[in-house]
Amino acid sequence: MTAQIIDGKAFAAKVRGQVADGVARLKADHGITPGLAVVLVGEDPASQVYVRNKGVQTEEAGMRSVTHRLDAGVEQIELLNLIYQLNGDDEINGILVQLPLPAHIDASFILDAIDPQKDVDGFHMSNVGRLATGQKAMVPCTPLGCLMMLRDHLGDLSGLNAVVVGRSNIVGKPMAQLLLADNCTVTIAHSRTRDLAAVCRGADILVAAVGRPEMITGDMVKPGATVIDVGINRVGRDGKTRLVGDVDFASASEVAGAITPVPGGVGPMTIACLLANTLTATCRWHNLPEPE
Ligand code: NDP
Repeated sequence: MTAQIIDGKAFAAKVRGQVADGVARLKADHGITPGLAVVLVGEDPASQVYVRNKGVQTEEAGMRSVTHRLDAGVEQIELLNLIYQLNGDDEINGILVQLPLPAHIDASFILDAIDPQKDVDGFHMSNVGRLATGQKAMVPCTPLGCLMMLRDHLGDLSGLNAVVVGRSNIVGKPMAQLLLADNCTVTIAHSRTRDLAAVCRGADILVAAVGRPEMITGDMVKPGATVIDVGINRVGRDGKTRLVGDVDFASASEVAGAITPVPGGVGPMTIACLLANTLTATCRWHNLPEPE
């Protein structure tokens, strides 16, 4: 293996430490404790694990954590009323609705009901528009975590060729917007892209957010490129499973200059960025200087 491993676990711990310091200062100087409300609808096992982890890490950072668990059959209006109640609650600075929502609920309608200033997931239409037009926005946590790792590893990203494989609203598109804002030359690839391998080989920065286990192989990576693997795929059989990314780590790490592992890469950064966004939202709400 030639590639340097980008240690997302260690970086996330550093970010959580910085957030905890910021929270401690807010409390000491202004008597403010940021509050994050997470809304979980239904019993999806993966969502339950995510929500539990979010709650634990929120409290570890010194913030208030509130979890609302609703039955899978909850009426849309009931969920909407909870969002309105949280919008009006002065002790809550961040609201996150855990996705996916059950099919009878219109997810985009619910996400757009969240006060954009409390929208720590950055999925509200006004935050999407603000990010796309270069204005101050709440930025989706996973792509924000990827950007932080890239800046930390590469410094100035200006002029680099970035290829984002995947165009979802929660990862691919906001990732592309962030890289564009950092002056990369950005290509978004997707399932209809012709000669994906050739497109990927043009990338100084290659971000894989596809949802297909180990699809990006070493022959698709430019020598020395920085590879960010967003994918989380559980593979295996007979009760023995393991997590793999969208990148074939074994072959890609022979060619790349640096690469994020799965697990231990992008994943831990996502919750760290959620905490960072909650602190940022609290500072903006109270017109206080934002953490750097
Ligand atoms: P989506 O399924 O919403 O989007 C996948 C994208 O990949 C689509 O744009 C699709 O293209 C594209 N795609 C699918 N197949 C191919 C192909 N053969 N060639 C090129 N492009 C393809 O996934 P998400 O964006 O939500 O998630 C992507 C991955 O990231 C998943 O593994 C998910 O688990 C993981 N993830 C990890 C997070 C973390 O915290 N680390 C957070 C969120 C997601 P098209 O639009 O044409 O269909």
